[in-house]
Amino acid sequence: MKVAFFSSKSYDKISFEKLATNFSHELSFFEVNLDQNTAALASGFDAICTFVNDHLDKHILEKIKALNVRFVVLRCAGYNQVDLQAAAELGLRICRVPAYSPEAVAEHALALLMTVVRKTHKAYNRVRENNFSLEGLIGINIHRQTVGVIGTGAIGGAFCRIMLGMGCQVLGYDHFENEELKKSGVRYVSLEELFQKSSIISLHCPLTTDTKHLINTSNLAQMQDGVTIINTSRGALIETKAVIKALKKKKVGYLAIDVYEQEEALFFQDLSEEILQDEEIARLMTFPNVLITGHQAFLTREALQQIALTTFLNLDELESGKALSNEVAFQKA
Ligand code: NAD
Repeated sequence: MKVAFFSSKSYDKISFEKLATNFSHELSFFEVNLDQNTAALASGFDAICTFVNDHLDKHILEKIKALNVRFVVLRCAGYNQVDLQAAAELGLRICRVPAYSPEAVAEHALALLMTVVRKTHKAYNRVRENNFSLEGLIGINIHRQTVGVIGTGAIGGAFCRIMLGMGCQVLGYDHFENEELKKSGVRYVSLEELFQKSSIISLHCPLTTDTKHLINTSNLAQMQDGVTIINTSRGALIETKAVIKALKKKKVGYLAIDVYEQEEALFFQDLSEEILQDEEIARLMTFPNVLITGHQAFLTREALQQIALTTFLNLDELESGKALSNEVAFQKA
């Protein structure tokens, strides 16, 4: 199959080309995001391969369908960026990579947590300037903290296990309770109880209409003063304006995010020579207790290999008409 990659980076090209000889697909890599202006690049391709910020809304899907594209393979787990109803109506089949390395993301959540509460990012800069002062670097122990994990699927489950290993009490909230996690010591509670009892909250549920702005003014009010919030899931789970207010009032003690509500215009690009136009991320970056990474939680060697392998297998299944292992299909409400 001829496959056009959008939003492709050097690491995508390397990981896919490494495996390409084992498969019979012809790959073309475009660095641009998929949008109204770039969709025409899909002409002559059977499938497109897209990432988290390639918006597959109705108009784009209609455009690529008109170009005779038949399949969309997402090289990510989340699919909130896809209008599944429109895809189904157009007969476009969509596959994703459901769990390429839950540990990669869970370990990044740990890295964010440990960095922001132990201030190692500040220590790193200080020491490089021969400033060995410890003033202002007091951290908190993770051991014995109560950690609330919202969404205990593949990534949330891996994060629960890490937190249990660090001697935390772990509270889970999910529509489905995982028996293995319960046996390991995770206690499932209501969302309200999780908000009230957790000193650390980590978000691992998908972005849906139900979870958009899950962290909002009224939910923040239920949380402990000085709560730590970690988000490696999707930016819009947090209402940025509300969290900025909560940081100003010291309701939120630490915030560490790998995803941001308006990340589309910023992330995955070098904007170091540009004037930053986004006032909210600019405000977030002024807080000493906020840590931001640019959607890199997935970015490990192991995860990239798995993303490439699963995507090739998805393409094989789509081409051969076999049952699809990783299809994301529209579900009527
Ligand atoms: P998963 O499907 O294995 O788990 C998601 C869990 O969330 C499921 O158990 C589901 O029941 C639960 N859930 C759904 N709606 C919920 C709700 N309203 N409240 C509480 N729980 C709810 O998915 P996963 O592989 O663990 O990935 C989770 C999310 O992580 C993805 O949706 C994606 O947005 C994000 N992600 C981010 C990165 C990154 O690089 N930052 C990489 C991969 C995935």
